Amino acid sequence: MPKRFSKKVAIITGSSSGIGRETALLFAKEGAKVTVTGRSEEKLEETKKALLDAGIKESNFLIVPADITFSTGQDELISQTLKKFGRINILVNNAGASIPDAKKRTGIDQGIETYEQVMKLNVQSVIEMTQKVRPHLAKSRGEIVNVSSVVALKAGWTRTPYYPLAKAALDQYTRSAAIALISEGIRVNTVNPGIVQTGFQANASGSSSDDAQKFYDDMGSNTTAIPCGFAGRPEHIAKAIAFLADRNSSEYIVGQNIIADGGTSLVLGIHGPAGGKK
Ligand code: NDP
Repeated sequence: MPKRFSKKVAIITGSSSGIGRETALLFAKEGAKVTVTGRSEEKLEETKKALLDAGIKESNFLIVPADITFSTGQDELISQTLKKFGRINILVNNAGASIPDAKKRTGIDQGIETYEQVMKLNVQSVIEMTQKVRPHLAKSRGEIVNVSSVVALKAGWTRTPYYPLAKAALDQYTRSAAIALISEGIRVNTVNPGIVQTGFQANASGSSSDDAQKFYDDMGSNTTAIPCGFAGRPEHIAKAIAFLADRNSSEYIVGQNIIADGGTSLVLGIHGPAGGKK
């Protein structure tokens, strides 16, 4: 039986680490040719090693160091993918971050330049990549999966208000793009992860990786925060992305969000019976 992504070419942004790396690995194992990208050459090298260790041939992946917030970076990613693989079937807009304020301001005192950086990475780069990849996906009747967050949902976020704002904007963009592009045969959907053990927390808070791991362990053992009783791992999100990127599995799903958060978005922190330490 052919693998579910055989003959598919996927660009996965933010695949030098975390959720994106795991998605690249999963897609490649399931037959896709994948373009892996991020800014850090060191982290890209680690993804390359993970792909090779998983038995993926070099002819089936491409590594492109690029800053996704730069037009030149986006163009490079697309042109190199087309040069090596000849087409694009899937775009996973996964690169994203909660960028700390350079002057360490928090809450609604965070500077407007922080707002601009956060919006540029989490929203503008997705809009630009969608516009640029659109003709290629129209040709292949392809798929776009955006990676948002549970912070896009209704709760307010006092410490870092621009990141949830950006992810909420991304969710709304997904809906608009989905309606516009389905007539060209392109499906657009979103995965909204809850807490997932990646480099995200250390980057967002400026904490050490040990402190970040403590955060994930504490959260995972607090069922008022994560009812399923553990902090998610990148493969949990990669599987949801793969489901939405696979037309055979999800053809009738258009412009929707899959929330993959172990139940976080269902609790208010006041749930007695489900709550407390395990
Ligand atoms: P990581 O920090 O592990 O990965 C983020 C990825 O984005 C890296 O590959 C990083 O590459 C890339 N990236 C960041 N900025 C840029 C840039 N300017 N240009 C190109 N690439 C960039 O975190 P996650 O894997 O957790 O994050 C993946 C997505 O999941 C993000 O959109 C995040 O917002 C979302 N998310 C994560 C959650 C979590 O708890 N982990 C929860 C909800 C959503 P590099 O550093 O090499 O540039």
